[in-house]
Amino acid sequence: MYNDNPTLNLQNKTIDPNKQGEVFFKEQKEGQENKKKFYIESYGCSMNFSDSEIVASILGDVGFTATRNIEESDLILINTCSIREKAEETVRKRLRVFDKTKKQKPDMLVGVLGCMAERLKKKFLEEEKLVDLVVGPDAYRDLPNLVASAETGEKGINVLLSREETYADISPVRLGSNGVTAFISIMRGCDNMCSFCVVPFTRGRERSRDAFSVVAEATNLYNEGYKEVTLLGQNVDSYKWENPETGEVVSFAQLLVMVAAVHPDLRVRFSTSHPKDITDDVLFAIRDYENICKYIHLPIQSGNSRILDLMNRTYDREWYINKVKRIYEIVPDCAISSDIITGFCSETEEEHQETLSMIELARYSMSYMFFYSERPGTLAARKLEDDIPLEVKKKRLSEVIRIQAQVSYQHNQQDIGNTFKVLIEGDSKRSDKEFKGRNSQNKMIVFPKKSGIKAGDYVFVKVNDATSVTLKGEII
Ligand code: SF4
Repeated sequence: MYNDNPTLNLQNKTIDPNKQGEVFFKEQKEGQENKKKFYIESYGCSMNFSDSEIVASILGDVGFTATRNIEESDLILINTCSIREKAEETVRKRLRVFDKTKKQKPDMLVGVLGCMAERLKKKFLEEEKLVDLVVGPDAYRDLPNLVASAETGEKGINVLLSREETYADISPVRLGSNGVTAFISIMRGCDNMCSFCVVPFTRGRERSRDAFSVVAEATNLYNEGYKEVTLLGQNVDSYKWENPETGEVVSFAQLLVMVAAVHPDLRVRFSTSHPKDITDDVLFAIRDYENICKYIHLPIQSGNSRILDLMNRTYDREWYINKVKRIYEIVPDCAISSDIITGFCSETEEEHQETLSMIELARYSMSYMFFYSERPGTLAARKLEDDIPLEVKKKRLSEVIRIQAQVSYQHNQQDIGNTFKVLIEGDSKRSDKEFKGRNSQNKMIVFPKKSGIKAGDYVFVKVNDATSVTLKGEII
């Protein structure tokens, strides 16, 4: 899951001051105007957005309050992504902007968090003079100490990766929340060593969070009015937690059922899966619980077996096709989406064609599509030559995007005439006379408002039109 746009918006919801995390916003705004303020931008995958909510809670506990106004902030934080060169370029551009702001307010501190911080470590402090703090994804508990030392002029860095840290005891502060859907990170790190990927180096080894703390967070969210949670991890379906008291092991399928049991009106989604870990038990859980959504994000990366082997994805084309068939067999109304990389090292035109045909064969509802961006320190960077010319990478990417748009359009056209249970997330982007929401298959549906209905409600919507990205309908 990936986007290049920074998001920071705070919802001044009417809150119960006794609730941990929620207190953060309202109470501190009132009568604590002169409290120290932090401004945070998040980039990359949902894990980073979820981490920023953990950071907001940690800083809240030491008296910081969040602001969306960069000029009034005492501390600017940027939660960075390193998955592609472009993501790091975006961060560098933002630092140039922060540079100007800091010139106006020299006491202001600037901190870089996340995967780029972890990848560059102290080099970041050497390369970027305005940066006061470099903090990796497993070191956010140390932020208050690092901030305190930086306030005395001492640059701070902590990029230690942990084998235990899951921040399970920290109640995230919901940033940019619509009050309806929320992320819950259930595990951190990744043990797969896909040859193109920096994540194992920037987020460390896999560790799963205490299952009961996940269920507690989902229960809290439901009690606060949220109606959907997305269980997050770099590789959620390899979740495995051993209860230290009983020795009982909780698998991902079991955790899904535990969260679904919180309340039938609480929808459960999850992301991101590695195909090799999607078990039949997970599929049976999706089939058997109406509130576990009929949607799986199943990154394939390439449709060709030789390239999949070079990528160290641990499956080949035939195996993946059989997995897709198994998903449709057990959950016939499931929608599957994917991640695709074009122009990987030594990819031939014929092999590229296999990626195009896979999109049609798997009938993806949508995909995240990129051309290969060599990442320093990865297996591919060390062992394979990045030999596909940029214009060929871009040509192949545009072909993948074109085919996917056709398949998405067909996928959505087949929904015309069908009625779906939709969770309203808010007003549609185009008109405040329309609601937007998603069905179980994770498709966005836009439909005219009806009085007495609001965000957070479930409604039944009959689809009467569709584009390749959105369904249109009316409440029935
Ligand atoms: S599964 Fe592969 S691509 Fe995904 S985070 Fe892990 S190493 Fe990266």
